[in-house]
Amino acid sequence: MEGMMMQQALLISDILKYAAEAHGDSEIISARTEGDIHRQTYIETAARTAQLAHALEGLGVKLGDRVATLAWNGYRHFELYYGISGIGAICHTLNPRLSAEQLIYIVNHAEDKVFFTDTTFVPVLEAVKDHLPKDMTYVVMTDRAHMPDNTLNALCYEELLEGQPDSIDWPQFDENTASGLCYTSGTTGHPKGALYSHRSTVLHALYAALVLGNGYKPGDKILPVVPQFHVNAWGLPYSAPLMGTSLVMPGAALDGPSLFKLMDDEKVLSAWGVPTVWLGLSNEIKAQGRKPENFAEVVIGGSAAPRSMIEGFEKQGVDVIHAWGMTEMSPLGTHGKMPPWVKNQNFEEQINKKSLQGRRVFGVDLKITDEDGNKLPHDGEAAGELFVRGNAVISSYYNNAEASKTAFDAEGWFGTGDVASIDAQGFLNIQDRAKDLVKSGGEWISSIDLENTAMAHAAVANCAVIAIAHPKWDERPVLVAVAAGDEKPSLEEMHTHMSEHFAKWQLPDDILWVDELPMTATGKVSKLNLRKQFADYQLPDLRS
Ligand code: AMP
Repeated sequence: MEGMMMQQALLISDILKYAAEAHGDSEIISARTEGDIHRQTYIETAARTAQLAHALEGLGVKLGDRVATLAWNGYRHFELYYGISGIGAICHTLNPRLSAEQLIYIVNHAEDKVFFTDTTFVPVLEAVKDHLPKDMTYVVMTDRAHMPDNTLNALCYEELLEGQPDSIDWPQFDENTASGLCYTSGTTGHPKGALYSHRSTVLHALYAALVLGNGYKPGDKILPVVPQFHVNAWGLPYSAPLMGTSLVMPGAALDGPSLFKLMDDEKVLSAWGVPTVWLGLSNEIKAQGRKPENFAEVVIGGSAAPRSMIEGFEKQGVDVIHAWGMTEMSPLGTHGKMPPWVKNQNFEEQINKKSLQGRRVFGVDLKITDEDGNKLPHDGEAAGELFVRGNAVISSYYNNAEASKTAFDAEGWFGTGDVASIDAQGFLNIQDRAKDLVKSGGEWISSIDLENTAMAHAAVANCAVIAIAHPKWDERPVLVAVAAGDEKPSLEEMHTHMSEHFAKWQLPDDILWVDELPMTATGKVSKLNLRKQFADYQLPDLRS
């Protein structure tokens, strides 16, 4: 027997409509590329988004069309999320840190029709425009006074909105209609597209609103440092309006001092981002001898949060929430919001738990398997490849049958490529990307564990462990490190520092000091490039 309940399509436009009605005074506060701080409420945002939707229709954008954005976090980018998807088109966010070659590939693969860009990226687009679709319409996200000279024949965002009606009856369509597109370039080969739907986006926003934050109140300010071009800023532009929280958008200034000032001025409660950006903020907190006023929570994800970073924030009274996810998962998979029994434990125990990647969110199932695909127990010991399934996990890559063929197991679960264990209480421990593990003498060594311990040394600002081929042991770990100051500890000193946590054979064979580590477009250390950089490197015991 079927239930007798109405069925209403889950549409993204309903999120903003709700926010404007229920949390109309909450704000989007943006550090603009124009150089000032701009504020507008959800009511004003809804009105401007309606104007944008009319303008898009005027440009001929139709259901299913892809509309590209190349922009920092800000209110206009937020309006694009809702305006584009609201009329049934697809908001395709592009990462400006990608190479020109990747950008060209992605835009052509997605067949974008209209291209919205911040002033910052106009030169980037001018350099590649001859390789992009010829009939592309470009729009620069600024007002007439700040329009840069350009060879894109670009329209001006504010002029586009001017005079358009500030209300709209959002069209109704199937909730499975595509709404957003984000390419991931984590692995080798061409970037692959995750194509989100209205249904997956709304459900993900609800899941996220359920578990994230320390019971945010409407009007509380959250600052996504994680870019809107990286998995929709972890879904925050969709979950914040549901919760009624205000958003503080940092624009292009993501260095420690700029973030500190913005957070301090705006009394930001919670900030979200990858570990790399928190290195900068932590240094500024040290330099100023205080944290930004009201700063109480940091959500860290995208790569493993180093234990020393977690400890540092916690000692300042900032609650660390360690989260794990993927572009292919919209992205939230697990989150480290702690249950009461962990909060009652001593500091050390709490930090131990916070160093794990937390527990699954509702709507995401996790399983770990051995090399033959057999399910492994969740006992905190057994480690294997992590598979996921859920309503906000991709069912296929966009127009890429080749990549889609190998991404799922026989039961239809998505293979994350991460190696993990899960303990009896459900805490996930990501040990590595499968290809980043070091296999020495048939035994695995976790590069993340080595990095975490090395990072706890005061002389190490940042580091990464890579596997170097060895004729006897297969592979041996080598530590590549950036010094925090003038001190560069020797390998022996590093071994002494690390030996408490590792067996002798697990310790790195060498330490290589570098000025900086290569980064990926999403702010993670690029082990791919690091391996290339040290392709000719010889381990000490192999040198003749
Ligand atoms: P992306 O799709 O660019 O967000 O990358 C997803 C990948 O980042 C995951 O498969 C993990 O390898 C890694 N990752 C994300 N969050 C974490 C975390 N908290 N700890 C360790 N690795 C993470």
